[in-house]
Amino acid sequence: MPTEQQALIEFARQLHGHVGPYLIIGLKMGAAAKKALNISDSESTHLRAEVSVPLFPPFSCLLDGIQVSTTCTIGNQRLQFNNAKTIQATFVMEESGKVVKISLTKPFSKILDEQKKQDKLTEAYSWELADLPENQIFSIALE
Ligand SMILES: [Zn+2]
Repeated sequence: MPTEQQALIEFARQLHGHVGPYLIIGLKMGAAAKKALNISDSESTHLRAEVSVPLFPPFSCLLDGIQVSTTCTIGNQRLQFNNAKTIQATFVMEESGKVVKISLTKPFSKILDEQKKQDKLTEAYSWELADLPENQIFSIALE
């Protein structure tokens, strides 16, 4: 039996076509946002995401991870994104107005850059990321 996380990653693969580190980071980012805002899956229909990210792969793969984990999609207009050098996402709960901002920690960004330089942004590395604790990947700020 696959775990819930494995099943979600396989679902993301179906949508996105492959499993890469930034897809996983997007999945985890959405999950971290829902946890920080304390919202259930059914309440996520009131969530909006605004994502800054370099708009080319592998970085933009992040957007599909966020779409899968939050239901904030291009189609339902609850996902906005813009081209930026640094990855940052703001998640807003429509009704309460609660906001959480999530970015990558400096040490983790460094590790990712290094992996990219060495051409090691592999699927195997992606699955390793899936098991990393949130606090090693993200800076999470509730507003
Ligand atoms: Zn991708």
